[in-house]
Amino acid sequence: MEKLLEKPLNMQVGIVGLGSIGGSLGYDLRDRHCRVIGVSRKQSTCDRAVDLGIADEASCTFDGLKSADLVILCTPIGKLEAIAQQVIPHLNPDAVLTDVGSVKGPIVEAIEPLWTNFVGGHPMAGTHQSGVDAAQRSLFVDRPYVITPTEKTQPGAIAKLDQLITLIQAKRYECGPEIHDQAVARISHGPVMISSALVSMAIAQQSPEEAAVVSLAKQLASSGFRDTSRVGGGNPELGLMMAQYNQAAMIQCLHQYRQELDGAIAAIESENWEALNQWLIKTQNARPSFVD
Ligand code: NAP
Repeated sequence: MEKLLEKPLNMQVGIVGLGSIGGSLGYDLRDRHCRVIGVSRKQSTCDRAVDLGIADEASCTFDGLKSADLVILCTPIGKLEAIAQQVIPHLNPDAVLTDVGSVKGPIVEAIEPLWTNFVGGHPMAGTHQSGVDAAQRSLFVDRPYVITPTEKTQPGAIAKLDQLITLIQAKRYECGPEIHDQAVARISHGPVMISSALVSMAIAQQSPEEAAVVSLAKQLASSGFRDTSRVGGGNPELGLMMAQYNQAAMIQCLHQYRQELDGAIAAIESENWEALNQWLIKTQNARPSFVD
């Protein structure tokens, strides 16, 4: 009787890198009746993932991946290409390979030639905490999941990734890897540097007398500073990877930002309140088109 009530298995999914993103995917996929085969670097992470219910099985070797229909690479960006090379000999010929890297251009360029059934992806949700214990259920619900196929991508690989996106209830977007990188530089990667600069500005001391100012500022900081500094206080490794792997778009975005700041400084210095007012009205009107 119990067997009749069991839901059919949706997919067998391999997750390589059981950290905040890999672990969060594991939770939701198991909740949606997928079998999750985890792989991570540390045995302690593998054991923890199984204990938490993130994976049905987990180990530091790639052997278990041979039964996977879909393998998702969830390691830090700098490790994705090397991990793909290690994973590929263990895949069954029909398996689809994808990654969750926050940068797509160099990753797609490196991995696409290695495996026909590869399609790049980027689930745009995160906790700014790392490791298996930072994994969360339902992290991706209603959040963007960008897929970045090229003219070489197999339709079957896209269909399999679409199935994943549907299962985790994310919102699907599709674009080329380069335009993805330019867009995320503006709203994600650039803001990490801008927010870090904000924190750095707040602790800067030009003279010993300013120590009291910094100390008071720390005590007075409230919701505004919390909102604007949040991404600057995240995992440094992630920010560094964004700059290294999305260098061109990041530089372009930061130059534009400097130009915007220079404009604001010039307006304030020259007491051109009308220009400053117009700039602030423009940004007030534009913000809702990015966030609700
Ligand atoms: P994370 O929490 O640090 O997790 C990465 C995990 O990968 C680590 O827990 C580590 O597990 C494992 N790992 C590292 N090297 C490995 C190796 N050589 N072989 C196997 N496993 C290895 O990082 P994350 O935030 O989940 O980010 C992972 C990926 O998601 C990155 O590519 C990032 O660009 C992307 N992403 C992140 C966010 C975000 O906001 N965090 C959002 C979207 C996409 P061990 O404990 O076993 O060492």
